[in-house]
Amino acid sequence: MSVKVLPEEVAAKIAAGEVIERPSSVLKELIENSLDAGASRVSVSAEKAGKALIRVNDDGAGMSPEDLRLSVMRHSTSKIAAFEDLDALGTYGFRGEALFSALAVSRLKITTCRAGDEAASFIEGDSGAIKAEGKAAPARGTTVEVRDLFFNVPARLKFLRGDPSERAHLIRVVEEAALANPGVSFSLEVDGAEVFSLKADNGPWETACLARARELLGGKVAEGLTALEQNAGELSLRALFSLPDSLYATRQNQFFFVNRRPVSSKTLQQALYRGYDIMRGSKHPACAVYLDLPPAEVDVNIHPRKADVKFRAEGAVFKFVSGAVNARLLKTQRASVAIDPGASPARDEAAAPAPSSEVRAVFGAGKPPAAAGAAEQESVTDALFAAEPAPGGSGPSWYQPPVNYLGQLSKSYLVFESGGGLLVVDQHAAQERVLFEKYMDELVLGKIRVQPLVIPVSVELSASQAENIMRWQDWLKGAGFEIGRSGPTHMLLHATPALFYFSQEAAQELFGYLSEVLGEPSRSDEALKRNTVATMACKKSVKARDFLKPQEAQRLIEDLKTAKDSFHCPHGRPTLFHIGRPELARKFQRTTVI
Ligand code: ADP
Ligand code: MG
Repeated sequence: MSVKVLPEEVAAKIAAGEVIERPSSVLKELIENSLDAGASRVSVSAEKAGKALIRVNDDGAGMSPEDLRLSVMRHSTSKIAAFEDLDALGTYGFRGEALFSALAVSRLKITTCRAGDEAASFIEGDSGAIKAEGKAAPARGTTVEVRDLFFNVPARLKFLRGDPSERAHLIRVVEEAALANPGVSFSLEVDGAEVFSLKADNGPWETACLARARELLGGKVAEGLTALEQNAGELSLRALFSLPDSLYATRQNQFFFVNRRPVSSKTLQQALYRGYDIMRGSKHPACAVYLDLPPAEVDVNIHPRKADVKFRAEGAVFKFVSGAVNARLLKTQRASVAIDPGASPARDEAAAPAPSSEVRAVFGAGKPPAAAGAAEQESVTDALFAAEPAPGGSGPSWYQPPVNYLGQLSKSYLVFESGGGLLVVDQHAAQERVLFEKYMDELVLGKIRVQPLVIPVSVELSASQAENIMRWQDWLKGAGFEIGRSGPTHMLLHATPALFYFSQEAAQELFGYLSEVLGEPSRSDEALKRNTVATMACKKSVKARDFLKPQEAQRLIEDLKTAKDSFHCPHGRPTLFHIGRPELARKFQRTTVI
């Protein structure tokens, strides 16, 4: 076989395949161009899931007739002239490949007009060639129409999914752009029917983004979100994310943006999950995370479709984000029940902790961090809480002395008077939280108190489970569990941490579970191992007794008061709710708070 140079048209189609994989990838490029052109309105319509038509109309700066012709040439871009410019780029585009690619693999028409132009100009073409051009009535902005995508690349066409799937991709792309740019109005029409129409909101980011989230993700998801804003040097983070009691079965509602660009980033996603600090099985938060940093700190160019990003200082970004999320969640109070449906929970307005010195060192500047939550709106419930006496000392807001134990309900709930209001505690959840933190403290300090069992507890597992768990023998010993084997499927528990009491059945479940979730001992993260073991052990060990004596209930509440997160059990369930005096008064329609 002899070496041949590919004909230009074939080369163009191959190159186009890198940029345009499916209808949603063209749409993404077109929307980015509109935003780069300074549009304040972007209107999208699609037919047949974008396979027949994608049209994007904007009110941006437009192009001159000469630039219009140039815009579909390869590597034509108004955004960089030299390679050095790449690092300093503040726009979405810079490769000059999107329109070139669209012309190669579809029937393309672009109509554009600048402010003050006497007429709009258009060009039309397909298969890489301009086939018609002319003038049209003036209207500032640009309309790009991509028809019959891949009509000349049948192999590609075959790889497209069914309409519902491609349609879902299209909608997602517009959702992402809309969440990232609340100051721009967006509308989407599919097969002649409006999917959404969102007004621009140029107010503070939190209200604007929350409003977008409400329209795009629904009121219920939006209600479960909390907000945070934190800066460290040149790193700036703004985020909306689910409170621990509002998690979902899928990752569907997770959006990440770096320098306003929608990205998929394992680093950011894992940082978010780490921020929750607790094991949640298959539950996922909803989020819109916006990270801004100097363009030189991030490489958006590792993927031709610019979907994945790489940070120069991955570790520092991870720490910054997980730390901020974690601090925010610990400070977020969900203690008061919203008696009125719709009333939002009270929030703790404490400033976020300073970012670690490592983060500050990496991102220079050393500017003091801004206080978090400054932009938060005061809700009705916040106002009511403000009217209550300030909690004594530095305890959580639900603890307002004197706190008196009133009794137990259904052998499960403990009822207290606190600050003249009603405090209801889920006894199991509270015990789990207290145990979890005590055990974690001992574990971190390496001071586990161990309780040898006079009669070892015998645990029966499958042979492979037993095999797995035995690989953890040494690590588990350090965590206070002494295990041995009495047969291929039989294990003996010789000692446990003194904090725990396990029935035979509970020990069985604990070790069955651990054998499934613990991976290779040396390869797992230390904090994760501790967390997993502690969470499960707490869950299994406290079921033993249900009745609590008043002194025990009182001790539990005092212990809970000093917990780092007194509001949730290690699995994220609420531990308590508090109905303050103002809410009681309101419930009984009293005009004054007693
Ligand atoms: P890139 O965005 O990487 O520069 P594109 O192929 O997407 O490359 O676009 C080429 C050029 O066409 C852009 O640099 C821009 O100057 C111009 N352009 C594209 N779309 C628009 C638009 N909607 N409004 C104004 N100019 C546009
Ligand atoms: Mg572009």
